[in-house]
Parts: sequence; C-alpha cells; structure tokens
Amino acid sequence: MSFKHKKKYGQNFLTDQNSVLEKIMEVSNIKPHEEILEIGPGEGALTELLLEKAKKVICVEIDTDLEKILRKKFSENEKFNLVMNDILEVNLDEILAPHTRVVANIPYYITSPIINKLIENRDKIDEAYLMVQKEVGERVCATSGKERSVLTLAVEYYGTGEYLFTIPKEFFNPVPKIDSGFISIKFYDDKRYEKLIPEDIFFKYVKAAFSNKRKNIVNNLSTLGLSKDIIKEKLETLNISSNERAENLTIEQFINLAKCFENN
Ligand code: SAM
Repeated sequence: MSFKHKKKYGQNFLTDQNSVLEKIMEVSNIKPHEEILEIGPGEGALTELLLEKAKKVICVEIDTDLEKILRKKFSENEKFNLVMNDILEVNLDEILAPHTRVVANIPYYITSPIINKLIENRDKIDEAYLMVQKEVGERVCATSGKERSVLTLAVEYYGTGEYLFTIPKEFFNPVPKIDSGFISIKFYDDKRYEKLIPEDIFFKYVKAAFSNKRKNIVNNLSTLGLSKDIIKEKLETLNISSNERAENLTIEQFINLAKCFENN
C-alpha cells in the first residue's frame, strides 16, 4: 500500500525526475568524513544518496507512520541514525558533532523556526543546504530590494545565504501550489558581525525598522519610544534619508544605526 501523505506535516516528497536529487548532491558537495543532519527524511529519497556520500546521517522525522518505511530501507546501514521527534523539540547540541552539515527538504510550515534553530546551533553546524518555498528562499538570500526582511538580516548577521536553483512544483508528490528553491546558508567562522554589535541590540533595531513594511524607517523606529525629531537627526548623521525603508538598508548601515541610537 502506498504512503498517504499528510498535509499537516508539509509532506511533499521529492520524486527523482530530471535528477533534482543529483543536483542537490552536486551542490551540497558532501565529503566522506562529514556528518549530516537531514530534517524530515520522508520516505528517504534524499537519505539514500546522503548515506552513499557521508560518514553519518542523522535523520529527524516527526511522522511515526514513516518510521517503519525508513527502518526497513536503512536499518542495515550503520551510518543511518533515526530520531523520531519534532525537530523543534530536539536538543541538537546533544546529538550533533562539530562541523555538521544540514541537507534537507524541510517541512515548509516551520521554515523560519527551523532556520532560527539552525542559527542557534551554529556552533555545531557549518553549512545548511535547504529546500524551501521559492519566495522564502528569495527573501532569505535577497541582497537588496523589497524581499528583504528580518529573516534576511538574521541570516546575514550569522552567515551568507545563497539562492542556488529553483525546483518546479511538478517534481514533488503530491504536487504543491508553488515552486521550491534550494538555498545554502554558510555560517561565518569569524563572528564578523557578532563582534561588532551584540545580537539583542542589533535585532532590537532591525525588528523595529521592519515592524510595518508600508511605513518608512522614521515611523517604524518611533515604535521604540523615540521622538521623530531625534530619529531624523540621528539618521541625518548616518546619511540615511528619513523616507528610507528598512529593506533598502545594508547590514552595515543597520549596525551603524543601532550603535548610533544606543549611544544617547
Ligand atoms: N525529505 C523528503 C523528500 O524530499 O522527499 C520529505 C520532505 S517533506 C517536504 C517534509 C518532511 O518533514 C516530511 O517527511 C514530514 O513528515 C517531516 N516533518 C514535518 N514536520 C516535522 C517536524 N516538526 N519535525 C521533523 N520532521 C517533520
């Protein structure tokens, strides 16, 4: 009997038409000594290829109906490790070795929480290769323009995001409503922005600046309780127009802004 996909778990499994899986393997470039975390292995289409390349593959899957299928396919393989749990509940620090690489077609309904969890565990994770909804991938990796958001800045603060390629929706079963994008996030090993500004201060200003996408930066920063005149004055010293929108600021401008506003 074939597996009945569950919408609530974001189950759109990759089919191997046109070698999408091979392309994923090619760009993620796994070395034989590496340990991989796969979030949501599904029926194991990607897992099978990961097991061929890596030293160890830790799969975290929430759906107990998939456990038997996965164990039947891979339990003989000693590289295969299955954790049956919600990825958001798993203590990754406990189960991951340093320099782990993440390769996964993640459940889209928890894309941001997953990316945030990977960021939190960047001490153990060097790089993440993720299949996400196309628009989300474009947003995460946007270097300029209206697609930029708090999530873009969150990724930029800790690493480099790159949009690698698009996967048309027809390559999934069942076929979802929208195309997917494959992205990479490589965490900096030199903490280059963390060194310049503490994360709580940086995100206080980033979140305020993006709090209402339709409003300019002066109106949004005023939600922090500052008068608009003071905000305008400070922006002038930073050479940022009062009509500017958060999406047009670079991470460096945000860092300077946060420093300037903190130094009253
Ligand atoms: N990797 C498979 C593939 O490409 O064919 C399946 C990908 S499917 C988009 C997402 C997978 O994540 C499903 O297997 C689903 O059951 C699993 N999943 C959903 N929510 C999860 C969670 N909170 N924790 C762990 N796995 C989850």
